[in-house]
Amino acid sequence: MRVSVIIAAAGAGRRLRSATPKQMLDIGGGTILQHSVKAFAAHPRISDIIVVMPPERTAFSPSPAMTGDLRTLPPIRTVAGGERRQDSVANGFDAVGPSADVVLIHDAARPFVTPDLIDRTIDAAATYGAAIAALQSRDTVKRVGPGGAISATMPREEIYLAQTPQGFRREVLAKAIAIGRSGVEATDEAMLAERAGFSVHVVDGDPGNVKITTEEDLDAARMRTATRGKPARTGRAGTGYDLHRLVEGRPLVIGGVTIQSDRGALGHSDADVVCHAATDAILGAAGLGDIGRHFPDTDARWKGASSLDLLARAAVMLADAGYEVGNVDVTVILEAPKIKDAIDDMRTRVAKALDVDPSRVSIKGKTNEGVDAIGRREAIAAHAIALVRSRS
Ligand code: MG
Repeated sequence: MRVSVIIAAAGAGRRLRSATPKQMLDIGGGTILQHSVKAFAAHPRISDIIVVMPPERTAFSPSPAMTGDLRTLPPIRTVAGGERRQDSVANGFDAVGPSADVVLIHDAARPFVTPDLIDRTIDAAATYGAAIAALQSRDTVKRVGPGGAISATMPREEIYLAQTPQGFRREVLAKAIAIGRSGVEATDEAMLAERAGFSVHVVDGDPGNVKITTEEDLDAARMRTATRGKPARTGRAGTGYDLHRLVEGRPLVIGGVTIQSDRGALGHSDADVVCHAATDAILGAAGLGDIGRHFPDTDARWKGASSLDLLARAAVMLADAGYEVGNVDVTVILEAPKIKDAIDDMRTRVAKALDVDPSRVSIKGKTNEGVDAIGRREAIAAHAIALVRSRS
């Protein structure tokens, strides 16, 4: 099934106090029109796109975000609009090829149309001949007479607020547009299709599929595009904990520094509790899982691995996810020996692995006062907390 879409972008948008037509206003990541076109261009069922522009602005350029995958985009053409909306859509329809089975019409001022809504409209148009996205009214609707008094209360369950897309089988839209050209005035093509004798099927609209009409709508749209798809701007915290047994005949590596000790930490890698706890803390802060998922001890690659290297790899994952490390704070719990003389060296190494200044890394040592396994020198543990934030 070939689906063409006509995007109506020829309106002057007089309700917004701007010399620029509203669909040409930037809402972040492109103009309102670019967002609307992108929604259809990214949809796998759309074969071609016709953008109806104001006659004085017939050049449409895709947003920078769209040009990355131009090869996979459906062709986008522009045609000049007419006097009224229905004239503009009629001009757009003249550019629709004869092979189109279904034609969608969409207002450029609705940039948040979803793939699901596009699918629903295509399916209903193919099945019923004519379809329109609409939302059932949540408010009671009153008809008000010339004197300012209510003349009728409409049954709410019968009241639907029309959105776009509207969709038609090609031959149905041809007849609707012919009726319009014969002199019938209409605010949308569904109305022309009704006049042409077709029944128009309603599909569930989407409350998020707003039409940007007022300054408030424009502000809200900018907020939406600013936050969409990006990590939260505020910081995110993550915690990490690690414990290893202490045994004779193993080196004791803490924060990448080998400490003189008769006992060392037992583990698959170098069993560095500071690096392991810090790795879990930064991964956790970014919602990227944990050390066991990325560096499983069943994987021979990590046997004897430097845990500073694992921490550095986790820091790269964090950067790839769009985050940077704000700070990391680690508490090491070890009965003996004392580690305070090695702490500056540990901080430098951990900071280097994280690719941050050492001032962002804190490492503190504690004993367990002789209590429990750690107090008996049977184990070493570390707690870490990390704060990360998005880089944009
Ligand atoms: Mg560990």
